[in-house]
Amino acid sequence: MLRCNICQAEATGVVEEAQVRSNVRKFRSEQFRVWRCPSCRSLHARDEVDLAHYYHDYPFHHLREADQDWMLRAMYGRQLARLRAAGLRPEHDVLDFGCGGGAFVRFLLSHGYSRARGFDEYSEGFSDRSVLAQRYDVILSQDVLEHVPEPWDFLRQMQGLVKPGGVVALGTPNAEAIDLAHPEERVHTLHQPYHRHIFSKRMLLSFGKDLGWKLDRYYRTMYANTLLPFVNSCFVNHYFKCHDDTVDLAIEPINPKSWKLWTPLTLFYALFGYFFAPESDVMVVYRSSLGAEKKSP
Ligand SMILES: [Zn+2]
Repeated sequence: MLRCNICQAEATGVVEEAQVRSNVRKFRSEQFRVWRCPSCRSLHARDEVDLAHYYHDYPFHHLREADQDWMLRAMYGRQLARLRAAGLRPEHDVLDFGCGGGAFVRFLLSHGYSRARGFDEYSEGFSDRSVLAQRYDVILSQDVLEHVPEPWDFLRQMQGLVKPGGVVALGTPNAEAIDLAHPEERVHTLHQPYHRHIFSKRMLLSFGKDLGWKLDRYYRTMYANTLLPFVNSCFVNHYFKCHDDTVDLAIEPINPKSWKLWTPLTLFYALFGYFFAPESDVMVVYRSSLGAEKKSP
């Protein structure tokens, strides 16, 4: 019996399922099973794996710094704009939960947000749990929800970290943009075996009410989708497909040596890709309730 740990429904009978390859080069030949909850449309990794093995030498743990990379700077600028739109001010306590190497924390600090902190239990410089002993006006958690084994434990942890009336911004994939009949199309959104549970849009838009949170904003694309030439999701996907279609490409120097890149399509995506981004990596911004009364599911 399969149980969805997002909507808590039990899936009986035949469920929608797919075999998906890993999009990390070292594990590219490995296949993983993913199933969809018939009730809420969220996706789940079916089999338990030794995650420590797969996280060893994980490509995203080797991201460049924003001050060395104009593309990352553009993306972070967009992420910061979203937080400011949600009410972030320089005097606020702001936490990047799951900050990796802390590149975005340093970006915030260098932009005058002197009370920015980061936490990441897998990152040497940011695993100090004392930052979790206080509450924050704004919490950003980008690409974390889909990695955790128990999403509701994670959400309740966010509830304990945010000040009353504060903001929780979660960037995460949307399961409803993934067609399991064509998993290769969204191999990077599925990101197996790292993404354990992927919320459907309907669940992303509604889970907050069980925590007493109010939905403030919904963004249908990722912060990495910008109007700047080359810095958009479609171009990145196209560039990946011109090579070996693994995420390792994201941390490697730009490689022009593929004949597939030298076509008009590349220029089209570079300039206009922003407008064609799929709704596969989204962001929900919630505001916690001002009152002391909080509900839990
Ligand atoms: Zn479900």
